[in-house]
Amino acid sequence: AKRRGKNQYVIFDDSMHKQSVDTHNEEMALARALERDELVLHFQPQFDLSLNKIVGAEALVRWKHPDKGLVYPDSFIPLAEQSGQILALGNRVIEKSFEYLAYREALGLYPILLHINLSSLQLNDPNLVPFVKSMVQTYNIPGHYIGFEITETTLLTDINHAKETLEELKSLGICIAIDDFGTGFSSLGQLKNLPVDLLKIDRSFVWDLERDKDDRMIVEAIIAMAHKLDIMVIAEGVESNAQLNMLREFHCDLGQGYFISRPIPQEQFNDFPESITLN
Ligand code: C2E
Ligand code: CA
Ligand code: CA
Repeated sequence: AKRRGKNQYVIFDDSMHKQSVDTHNEEMALARALERDELVLHFQPQFDLSLNKIVGAEALVRWKHPDKGLVYPDSFIPLAEQSGQILALGNRVIEKSFEYLAYREALGLYPILLHINLSSLQLNDPNLVPFVKSMVQTYNIPGHYIGFEITETTLLTDINHAKETLEELKSLGICIAIDDFGTGFSSLGQLKNLPVDLLKIDRSFVWDLERDKDDRMIVEAIIAMAHKLDIMVIAEGVESNAQLNMLREFHCDLGQGYFISRPIPQEQFNDFPESITLN
């Protein structure tokens, strides 16, 4: 029994060791990706339900891996958050977003509000606001073309600090959006003291709208309350015309999802029409 115990210990130790070697290798690979500029942005259009126009987009990062092809963020963002590389990665995403907006302007393409996902480490980074200010100057793109998507959990960890940072971003004209709204445990009451412009209703409330009466009630109530607080609402994960029509009925402002468009590479998004007819 002793020996077995010892062997198990050895096996456990080996797997621990392997895990830390793997993590180390993944960190090195990500560092190389940043160095070689292998990250690209895809853009998912955001649709104004009353104007029937594309008014914005969400920037979603992908890794053009030399061997593996296109790698999706779920497989490297968590690692980057653990290692702290999310700060460098996040700044790269912010810079690429500004770069793209300047490029659109130079091409004379219609204006959009570009939303960028922000991790909690980024929101707590004292360099975030100065960095964003420097981007506004370098690319000559006013802050009101940019939005930051922040999850409820990120905001609630240190709400006083978050409030201060959000107010500084707000003063640059940046739009503040709450991502995955409804999945955390915050209430609109908790958010009302923060400078929030937009709520993004999580797709888990959208996908079953046609069948689930509770989801319909929740979504309708969130929209009504948000509007009373002067906050706009976007629904994510819109996959069907029926969902879109229901959201219209509830006076939802904006929609995003596969029914409108999947996230697409830059060249394809450049050609995406401003006005589209859905139904
Ligand atoms: P998210 O912020 O919730 O982004 C939306 C995700 O839903 C995207 O996955 C998008 O492709 C997917 N999606 C869009 N429309 C639909 C739909 O109609 N149906 C369904 N089922 N899914 C839809 P993606 O691109 O794989 O991104 C995953 C997550 O990675 C994002 O979730 C976000 O949390 C994170 N992420 C992406 N880019 C960045 C970034 O630049 N920085 C940070 N910190 N996180 C990022
Ligand atoms: Ca998001
Ligand atoms: Ca989301």
